[in-house]
Amino acid sequence: VQRILKSTFYYGIFEFNGETHQGSHEPLISKKLFDACQEVMRDRGHIMTRKSESHFPFRGLLICGECKCAITAETQKGHNYYRCTKKREICSQKYIREEILTEQVKSFLQKVSLSSQDTEKVLRELGKDEQKVRENNKMFVENLKSELADIETKLDKLLSAYLDEIISAEEYATQKQKMLEHRVELKEKIREIEDGSLSWLEPARAWVKSLNQADKLLSSGDKSEMTTFLKQIGSNHIL
Ligand SMILES: [Zn+2]
Repeated sequence: VQRILKSTFYYGIFEFNGETHQGSHEPLISKKLFDACQEVMRDRGHIMTRKSESHFPFRGLLICGECKCAITAETQKGHNYYRCTKKREICSQKYIREEILTEQVKSFLQKVSLSSQDTEKVLRELGKDEQKVRENNKMFVENLKSELADIETKLDKLLSAYLDEIISAEEYATQKQKMLEHRVELKEKIREIEDGSLSWLEPARAWVKSLNQADKLLSSGDKSEMTTFLKQIGSNHIL
């Protein structure tokens, strides 16, 4: 499954884990980031789990850009080389030295990375958004609840009017039906607000944090962990 993060996060909508989320904010993160991250992010999870340095850190990560075959690795005269297995058809791709490949991986990470400072900033903005949304929701829900209380009062009055024979049975039934429908609507609205309006926040946080992981990997230079990260963000990486 190819999950693609669209640059529309910049405008308040983003995709994460295959779902579209509506953020409630103005543009928070630099355009650079979104242009660079067309293929970022599949799932959360621990990216920095410690693993032993593999002899060929990028093996299993890449496929050939020309023929889509797997990329294999070997050592020649003290250097690691990666090349297309050429199992399917004629392929003109030559081997590439690990040093060169490392630079390419780093430049990709560079494009999707977010510095710790920027990450903090974005997370702070998300926190402010959350606060704002919560406050608005609270007000909104309170209004809806007072409307709900009004309906209960009206229903009582309606019943009295009917019992006092001020209105007919038919009129009573019609009015009551209307009020009950309104009551259901209000309750649904309240539930929607309470359940749904902040569901985009956690995925947004996880996503931003993963972009910060890319930055940390660049500093650490750990190639195996770069591979783990690139596998997690999920797109087909092409040599
Ligand atoms: Zn090939």
